[in-house]
Amino acid sequence: MRMTAAVMYEQGLPMPYVESQPFRIEEVELRSPEEGEVLVEVRGAGLCHSDLSQVAGLRKRKLPVVGGHEGAGIVREIGRGVSGLKPGDHVVMTSVADCGHCPACARKRLVLCESVGMARSQGFLSNGQLRLASLDGQPVYHYSGISSFAQFAITMPSSLIKIDPSIPLDVAAMFGCAVVTGAGSVFNSAKVGPGDYIAVFGLGGVGLNAVMAARIAGASMIIGIDINEGKFGLARELGCTHTFSARDEHLVESVRELTKGGVDFAFEVSGNKTAMTAAYDVTRKGGEVVAVGLGATGAMHDYPHTALVSEEKVIRGSFMGSCIPARDIPLYLRLYQEGKLPVDRLRSGTISFAQLNRNLDLLEHGEVVRQILLPNG
Ligand SMILES: [Zn+2]
Ligand SMILES: [Zn+2]
Repeated sequence: MRMTAAVMYEQGLPMPYVESQPFRIEEVELRSPEEGEVLVEVRGAGLCHSDLSQVAGLRKRKLPVVGGHEGAGIVREIGRGVSGLKPGDHVVMTSVADCGHCPACARKRLVLCESVGMARSQGFLSNGQLRLASLDGQPVYHYSGISSFAQFAITMPSSLIKIDPSIPLDVAAMFGCAVVTGAGSVFNSAKVGPGDYIAVFGLGGVGLNAVMAARIAGASMIIGIDINEGKFGLARELGCTHTFSARDEHLVESVRELTKGGVDFAFEVSGNKTAMTAAYDVTRKGGEVVAVGLGATGAMHDYPHTALVSEEKVIRGSFMGSCIPARDIPLYLRLYQEGKLPVDRLRSGTISFAQLNRNLDLLEHGEVVRQILLPNG
């Protein structure tokens, strides 16, 4: 079928994006779902900081590619052999998928799946297939197996979680990346417990989910840090007990004094090197730095080795919140429905294809938290 999609042909175009137009809005061809594949009508797709990294070229992608790696929609067609989903089902689309048989999947470490990771880096679906093409038949690649900046998407069933149809799809869209990454870093990776002190560097969609999850986990001090102080009001409403500007030259001393020696867990969500150093420095002896933000491919960081050993600090990577979608997304949706994880508060508004490039600029400037593209109006 023919459909409208946001296609990127080149990475590294300059800001402002409203002028350089990294995404071209155009018609592409999407083939019918084959065996083991599902066609979803996309009803909401979140704009994530990872999309900005992709636009900026911090991590190389196969091009041209249809953007978008979190979303929600309605199943329209299923290929042969798909069980557990049927046309009309409402689903969350997440880039986490599993092959079901590699060593990582056998240990339930789905975000580490070798074959899915390989397919993603090549721009294919996790079954190694390509279902997108330009109108003249040239290959167009899938982004993280999702490509939700499009009216429709073909995805694998393990990337789709069936949800209660009463949940608004423009809220559900945020559960595919922002919620699983932020909440999962707290619940699954760090395992924050009652009374813990935590700090979160970067109060965007992912960071604020970490804040909300830490409140649920019973953390007694939740310190939010961002370069944009305009985010502090919402951050405090969602659970931050204290907020600091990342530009504050006394940040590290202030946090260490407030916490009497440092936090138990420092979550670094921005991927920024200076923030990572500060996250290490505000972590107490025996505490953990949880690195959530990806940063640029190949970026190297320093740490004081003797202190790492003698203070028994831990530096832990947390990718996509160590998520197991079939377990975690229904849990997080239940917490949302119970009012404990008010993800809807993060939604900064809905946008159309025509606003996509301009609104990347707003995200870059930290003026919005989570904007939701409505590819079907
Ligand atoms: Zn994301
Ligand atoms: Zn696997």
